[in-house]
This record gives sequence, structure tokens and C-alpha cells, in this order.
Amino acid sequence: MYRIKSLSLASRLFLSHLVVMVVGVASLVVMSRIFSPQFFVLHLQHLESRGMRLVGIRGELVQGFELAWRRSTFWSVLVGATTAGGLSWWVCQRILQRLSEMEKITQEFAAGKFDTRLPPSDIPEFRQLSYSFNRMADSIQNIESRRRDLISDMSHELRTPLTVMRGYLEELADGNQEPNPQIYIQLIRETKRLERLVNDLQELSKAEAGYLPIQAKPINLQPLLVSLVIKFREQLLEDGPTLELQSPGNLPVVMADIDRVEQILINLIGNAIRYTPAGKIIVSAHRDKNYLWITIEDTGIGIAADDLPHVFERFWRADKSRDRNFGGTGIGLAITKCLVELQGGKIEVESQLNVGSKFRFCLPLA
Ligand code: ADP
Repeated sequence: MYRIKSLSLASRLFLSHLVVMVVGVASLVVMSRIFSPQFFVLHLQHLESRGMRLVGIRGELVQGFELAWRRSTFWSVLVGATTAGGLSWWVCQRILQRLSEMEKITQEFAAGKFDTRLPPSDIPEFRQLSYSFNRMADSIQNIESRRRDLISDMSHELRTPLTVMRGYLEELADGNQEPNPQIYIQLIRETKRLERLVNDLQELSKAEAGYLPIQAKPINLQPLLVSLVIKFREQLLEDGPTLELQSPGNLPVVMADIDRVEQILINLIGNAIRYTPAGKIIVSAHRDKNYLWITIEDTGIGIAADDLPHVFERFWRADKSRDRNFGGTGIGLAITKCLVELQGGKIEVESQLNVGSKFRFCLPLA
């Protein structure tokens, strides 16, 4: 039993073909051995009944028939078995060749050669298997390249605050710098930046992997919009921009997670305030077919047309050094996009440099 279980696929295929062939040949030989002479004798009797005189040669005729039968059976078994054996060997070889090729390629893939793919096969089942494997390989390669990008972006982003902090600490340790509140404030700022970066990254990686729990329920966004606008207005400076809510009041109910929508709005309104030194920020809502659109429009610094396609990419910032000082991590919009999409909506941006930006996102109606 164990021996059969450990047989290779080639042996199994060959054995199964051999069994089919032996059974076929044996049944042919046995059946014709039993019935053919009887049929022949019956045929002779039929001829005799029609008046033919076969008495003297009957024995010889039967012997001749048996000899002819044996010879033809021998040759047909020989030719049939050789052809069937050869064909079965050829089919086994073709299947095995494909399988060992697949094994080699999957091993290369597992060893880290993520660009290897299975070639298409002329056997439909293998073709389907190659197609499924190649699709899986595409998605793994994609995840792998995003992981590499993320690590390289992350190290780049972490290096700046770490270098600044190390610089200050070395100065303090060498006695070149007297400890003073200014230095500690700067150190606290850099530490906070690191903290925010790590938190944002954790949130982004969860959102990108689809692990952020979304508890979508039918909700009315009007109270949330009102409370957020009031809260942000309190933080605006005298000479800063104004913040206004334009909403019809009776907003249709959407299917969304209120905490995630709040996170999206905080990111977008926060950005609008950050990048609008003076002027106006308008938050508005309107219904369009099966969606509710929320728009955050500002008259701030705007984004150049060339930069617009990149705004939702992680770590992307229009002006890296300036935004770093502003405390921006370049992750906010990437998280925002994930959060909108996880709730079945989409997000768009229009902007003109030195004129202003308009971010709008939609959520499905309940
Ligand atoms: P950050 O934390 O740097 O603001 P975001 O992902 O939220 O990161 O934004 C990415 C970049 O997009 C910002 O650094 C900024 O250059 C640009 N940006 C986002 N919102 C606005 C806006 N309302 N006006 C102008 N530029 C914006």
C-alpha cells in the first residue's frame, strides 16, 4: 500500500495506461478465443446445410483458421501494445516536462526572483494553472515593490528628524551648547514629528492592506460637518482664512463609518487651513445620483498641474523642505484616499497654483 502511495506521477500515469491496455488486450484475446472458433464452426455448418461438401477438409479449415487467428492476434497485440505504450510514454513525458518546468519556476519565484512567470501551455488545464499562478505572482510582485518603496521612503523620512535630534544632543553632550528651553522645544518638536510619522505609517499600512475596520452605518453627516467647522474656526488666527459651511441642511443619509469620515474631513480641512495663509475655505455638500459629495475648497497656495497626479501618493509633498517645517508628513492624503475607497467612495482634486484647491469626495447613499 505504502509503495503505491509513494509512486511518482510518471509511474502512476504509465501504470494506469498499462492496466487499461492489458485489460483491453486480454478481453479481446479471451473473448475472440472463446467465440471466434465457435462462430467459424457455425459458419461451416451453415455452408454444409446449403449443400457444400466440407467433410474431408473441415478439420484442416478449422486448423487453418486457428493458425491465422493466432498470427493476426500476435501481430495486432504487438503493434497495438507498442503504439499504445509509445503514445502513453509520450503523453506522460509532455505532462512531466510541463510539471518540472513549473516546479523550477515556482522555486525560482519562492527564492525571490519575483519577475519569473510561467509560459503559456497548449494543455488547457496547465494554461489555466499558469494564468492563475502568473496573476498571483503579479500581485505578490506588486506588494513586494510597494513594501520596498515604503521602507525606502520611511527611512528617508525618519532620517531627517533623527539627524536634527542627534545634532542637538551631540552639541549638548560636548558642552558646545548650553541647555536652554529653545533647544528642548526643538527636540520636542522633532520627537512629535517622529511620533506622528510612526502613527500615520501604521494607519496607512493598515488602510492599504484593508485591515482598518470600517463600521458602515446609515448616518447623517450634517451634525459632524457643523461641529468640525466650529472646532476648526476656533483655531483660526485673526489674520488667517475664514471657514464657511455651505450645506442645504437636510442632507441625505449616507452609508459610512462616522469616525472614518471625521478622519477624512480633519485631514482635508486641516490641509486647507495649513495651505491657505489668508482667504476663504468653504466646506459644502451636495447630492449627485447615488452619492453625497463633500467639497473642501480653498483660496490657498494651490498645487501645480504637474504635481496634481501625485498628491495622493504617500510621502509626496509639493515642497518637501517647507512642508516638513510645517509638520506635514505627506501621508495624510494617501490615508484619506484609502479611507474614502474603503467606504465605497472616491476622491478627486482640482487645483491651480496660487489660486486655490478643491478636494471633493463622495460616499454612497444609504
Ligand atoms: P502633509 O501632511 O504633508 O500635508 P498630505 O498627504 O496631507 O501630507 O498632503 C500632501 C501634499 O499635498 C502636501 O504636502 C501639500 O504639498 C499638498 N496639499 C495638500 N492639500 C493641499 C491644499 N489644500 N492646498 C495646497 N497644497 C495641498
